[in-house]
Amino acid sequence: MSEIPAANFIRNIIANDLAAGKNDGKVCTRFPPEPNGYLHLGHVKSICLNFGMANEFGGSCNLRFDDTNPEKENAEYMDSIKKDVHWLGFEWHKLRHASDYFPELLEYAYQLIDQGAAYVDSQSSEEIRANRGTLTEPGTNSPYRDRSPEENRQLFDEMVAGKHPDGSHVLRAKINMASPNINMRDPVIYRIRHAAHFHAGDDWKVYPMYDYTHCLSDMIEGITHSLCTLEFEDHRPLYDWVLSTLETPCHPQQIEFARLNMEYTVLSKRRLIQLVQENHVNGWDDPRMPTIAGLRRRGIPASGLRRFCEKIGISKADGTIEISYFENVIRDTLNTEAARRMVVLNPIKLSITSLPEGHEEIYRLPNHPQNPEMGEREVPFSNTLYIEAEDFSENPPAKWKRLALGESVRLRGSYVITCEEVIKDEAGNIIELKCRHDPDTLGKNPEGYKANGVIHWVSAPHAVDAEVRHYGLLFNQANPMAAENFLDTLNPNSLQVLDHAKAEPATRADIGTSYQLERQGYYAIDPDSNADKLVLNLTVSLRETGK
Ligand code: ATP
Ligand code: MG
Repeated sequence: MSEIPAANFIRNIIANDLAAGKNDGKVCTRFPPEPNGYLHLGHVKSICLNFGMANEFGGSCNLRFDDTNPEKENAEYMDSIKKDVHWLGFEWHKLRHASDYFPELLEYAYQLIDQGAAYVDSQSSEEIRANRGTLTEPGTNSPYRDRSPEENRQLFDEMVAGKHPDGSHVLRAKINMASPNINMRDPVIYRIRHAAHFHAGDDWKVYPMYDYTHCLSDMIEGITHSLCTLEFEDHRPLYDWVLSTLETPCHPQQIEFARLNMEYTVLSKRRLIQLVQENHVNGWDDPRMPTIAGLRRRGIPASGLRRFCEKIGISKADGTIEISYFENVIRDTLNTEAARRMVVLNPIKLSITSLPEGHEEIYRLPNHPQNPEMGEREVPFSNTLYIEAEDFSENPPAKWKRLALGESVRLRGSYVITCEEVIKDEAGNIIELKCRHDPDTLGKNPEGYKANGVIHWVSAPHAVDAEVRHYGLLFNQANPMAAENFLDTLNPNSLQVLDHAKAEPATRADIGTSYQLERQGYYAIDPDSNADKLVLNLTVSLRETGK
């Protein structure tokens, strides 16, 4: 699929930097997730941008765990992030942890202390907050602001050695308590936490703050373009202040872009954790979740996600993507990539009385109508089939294109059949359709009469039992976060299970395989599948369904 790349102002900046010979002609980016949850669709945008720009310009992209909050982070989250980045199709240059740099960050902190650019503040966190000022009023200097470098060094030594309890002191950058930018009002750069760290071990008693850590980690790795979302725009002066004050050997350029928002979708790890922990969904990889794990389980291909990100582009303007736009990209991708199969979701039995008991034929049908390279599969046919209950009508409306008593229809890839008798149980439910086949219609049109349309079918003795899971939107409001409590907008009917479906045998395949089920939609094989039962997840319907 060749497509014109959407606007991406960062691509232009990098191209211009390269043309001007900046950064010795190098491009180094990084994707810096905090391992405090599973990655979501918003992160996909950032991953595709960071890895995409590095690949496009012959540069490199690191995966860096931004792990400065020991209480919230763990190895399970870290492993899931590595798996997801790989699955999306990207290779990192170096795998790093911000905590790898704790020793260097500490050295830089002492350097700031010696320069008179950082001080130990012994106010309580409430006092610090109260003295920070507001958007309209300047802050108030801490009474500890003028401690000498010697005293600060001494106190910081003690903090590092674990001699003080959590919250008793912090290290602050000495910038300007009257700055119109609140981030510049002597931001805290180290806090005391007597907590074990999943990667850095048990020895650290002080932990650096995000803003201080991020710019220095970028610098240490030689990142040239530090791409982040717009909420960090007001933090850029601090990013630059730390690097300039320390006169570091290189100074990465922070560039902000608009985050991804999508209708009917919540993209915030904090909220997603809540959905998982309060059991509103069945885990991080629930196919209704916008996590990469959930999208993958639902059958959304990595190629579709990359294509989606390329198409939405990168800008400075916040916006919200329509869910139908996302689904259209996925549908187009799967239309090209997914093999075709026949699965009957709501089966009704159909007997062909003009064929003997035990009759069997094997067809070879193309996996993809437009792509012969995708090959063929064997489809068994017999005198007993299943068709969709909805494909038969006792009282067909005008222009009915399917089966009815006395009417003819083509079985996809097989014969034209005519319904001769409807068998019902005592309650009046249809339990079987008896039909006659026209032996002269295999691969050709019937003579002298017309078949109504084409329906899909599965041979009953060969059928594989299947459970089909139909997913709707997880939320029933376009902007769940606009509600007082986003949980109130959860869609109570977001999962419907059809557990008597019948699949043609070739539907069995590896977990995650995607199909277009003829006349139904795109589905993927769920990991809950076993030897007795195939489980299929609806990825996206064949056509837009509306909300
Ligand atoms: P969340 O609010 O969901 O926890 P985060 O920004 O705190 O997200 P991080 O793990 O810190 O999560 O994010 C790693 C990178 O992904 C950051 O550079 C961040 O800007 C980017 N990112 C996060 N959410 C989005 C989004 N919705 N759109 C684009 N980029 C995003
Ligand atoms: Mg974060």
